[in-house]
Amino acid sequence: MADSPTPGVLEVITGPMFSGKSEELIRRLKRARIARRRVACFKPDIDLRYHRTSIASHSAQTHDATTVANVEDLREALYPQLDQIDLIGVDEVQFFSPAIIPLAVELIAIGKRVIMAGLDTTFAGEPFGPVPNLMAIADTVTKLAAVCMVCGAPAIHTQRLSHSRELVVVGASGLYEARCRAHFHPFLDDQTSQLKLPKV
Ligand code: ADP
Ligand code: MG
Repeated sequence: MADSPTPGVLEVITGPMFSGKSEELIRRLKRARIARRRVACFKPDIDLRYHRTSIASHSAQTHDATTVANVEDLREALYPQLDQIDLIGVDEVQFFSPAIIPLAVELIAIGKRVIMAGLDTTFAGEPFGPVPNLMAIADTVTKLAAVCMVCGAPAIHTQRLSHSRELVVVGASGLYEARCRAHFHPFLDDQTSQLKLPKV
């Protein structure tokens, strides 16, 4: 009987907006390429900031990436070249459906190194999409903090600065900022546009 392949690993990079998730993902991808690992990187097409063919950080670092509409598209783009790929990177993974979880499990089982970066919580402070489950099954979880734009403390939250209750509002700059627990106010008062403290 043939030996099963040595399992790969799942590394999750998480935290609020501006915490350096994309920077850290790009850093790991670049180091892997220096080590002559063959890398494929993907992002959901909801994130069209800067480029369709790369991932980018707020500090303008970039890495080539394929934009895909959903997990099925990711699978279709990846599998024909899978023999030639050692490491699969995914940015903005919170925007993918839960189908990303069995895909991650599959890739680990056949020996791939998988690095997934994404927000752990929404603007309402709630767990975001598949990220909590991916954190649970990961080999390593790197939880980064940003800098609170009110007081400079470590920030674990993403503050939405507009009214919208839509889960996803992407792109326009100035819509979000990083906040610490003390300065995070998930709900805006509809009438006054003033920040309203959540009821506890
Ligand atoms: P993420 O992918 O987590 O949103 P990025 O990797 O795109 O983060 O960007 C991180 C960079 O954003 C930092 O290196 C810094 O240059 C910049 N930045 C802007 N605002 C902040 C903030 N409030 N806290 C930390 N970094 C910030
Ligand atoms: Mg990012």
